[in-house]
Amino acid sequence: MTLAPVPSPGAGDVLALIRSGRATTRGELGRVTGLSRTAVSARLATLEQAGLVVEGELESATGGRPAGTLVLNAGAGLVLAIALGRSRSQVAVHDLDGTELASVSHEQEVGAGPEVVMPVVVRHLAEMLASLGRTADDVRGVGMSLAGVVDAGQVMSVDSPALAGWDGVPLEPFVRQVTAAPVFLDTDCNVMALSQLRVAPTTLAERDDALVLKASTGIGLGLVADGRIVRGHRGAAGQLGHVKVAAAAGLPCRCGDVGCLEAVAGGWALADSHVRDLVAQAVQGNGRARAVVRESGRHIGEALAAIVIVTNPRVVAVGGDMAGAFDVFSAGLREGLFASTTALAGRDLQVVPVAHGERAGLVGCAQLALDAVLSPAAVDAALADLRS
Ligand SMILES: [Zn+2]
Repeated sequence: MTLAPVPSPGAGDVLALIRSGRATTRGELGRVTGLSRTAVSARLATLEQAGLVVEGELESATGGRPAGTLVLNAGAGLVLAIALGRSRSQVAVHDLDGTELASVSHEQEVGAGPEVVMPVVVRHLAEMLASLGRTADDVRGVGMSLAGVVDAGQVMSVDSPALAGWDGVPLEPFVRQVTAAPVFLDTDCNVMALSQLRVAPTTLAERDDALVLKASTGIGLGLVADGRIVRGHRGAAGQLGHVKVAAAAGLPCRCGDVGCLEAVAGGWALADSHVRDLVAQAVQGNGRARAVVRESGRHIGEALAAIVIVTNPRVVAVGGDMAGAFDVFSAGLREGLFASTTALAGRDLQVVPVAHGERAGLVGCAQLALDAVLSPAAVDAALADLRS
C-alpha cells in the first residue's frame, strides 16, 4: 500500500488562517503551516496580487494595524444576503469580512410565491449595489435562506409548509438578473445557527455545542455539534415544530399531520394576527398575551428537553419573533426544559437570545456565502483561473 503525499498548504489555506485570525503574521503562518519562509512569501504574493490580502502599516494614532500584520482585504469583493421569512424579506450587501454595507427589510407576503417576491428582492439588491457605487462584477457570492427543507444543490425549497408555492421552484434564474455569482441556499434555522457559530463574540465552548431555536410563525432548530451545523441525511434535520407532543393530540398542523408541537406553540396557532403583534402586546404587559407567549415557551421547552438530553448543548439560543419577548418566553422555555432534562445535561446549560437579533438571518446568509467563496478550495480555484 502506498500513501498519497499530504498536499502542502496552498494559498487558500493561508487565506483561511488569516481570515480566522489564527495566524496573521509571516512568522505565525510559517509555524502553523510548517511551510518555509520562502513558501509562505510565495503564497502571500499570490494572495496580494489577487487583492485578497493586505499588509497592515504602523498607524497607531489612527488605529491601524502594526506593520507586518496580514488581513483579509474586506473591500476586495461583496456578498449578497437574502433572508426570506413568512411575511418579510430582508436583503443586504456585505463586504468580504462580513460587515453589512446596506440592507433593506420589506414587509411582503412571501407565501405569494417566488414569481411575486423574487423580482422585488432582485430590484432591492440592484438598487443597493448602485447606491454603493458597486457593480455586479464585485459580487463573489449570494447567500440565501428560506423556511422549511431546501435542496442546496438545486437551489430550491423542497418541503416548506409555510411557503408551499416555493417548493420545487429553482431560484437561481431569479438571482441571475442581478449577478452571475454562485448562489448558496440553506434553511432559516441553519443560517441563524451559522450567525451564532461564526460571528458571535462568544467563547468557543458556547459556540461549538448549541441549539439555535427559531420560534416565530413556525418553530425550527439549528443544531451545532462540535462546531459544525448538523443538517442530516436529507437536509431535514431541525424540524422541531413537527415533533409530536401530547398537548397537541388530535390538533391539525399546517404540515397536514396532527399532534405537532407547532399546533400548540407555533405563532400561526397562537394569534389571529401576526405573531409579532402578540409579542408586542406581551412586551407592553398585556396579561393574556404574556400567558400565551410563556405557555408557548413551556411547550417548546418540554420538546427540547429530549434533544438537550441527547445532544448535551452548552447553549440554547433563542431567535425569531418570540425572542422579542425574551424574558417571558424564556421563562416558559426554562420551566418546560429544566423540568424534564437530566441534571447533568442541564448543569451548565444557558438559555440566551441569539447574538444578532433580527439581523441573524442576514448575518448568517452573508456568512454562508463567505464560507463558500473563501473556502481554501474555492480560493485556490479562483487563483488558478486568474493565472490561466
Ligand atoms: Zn406539523
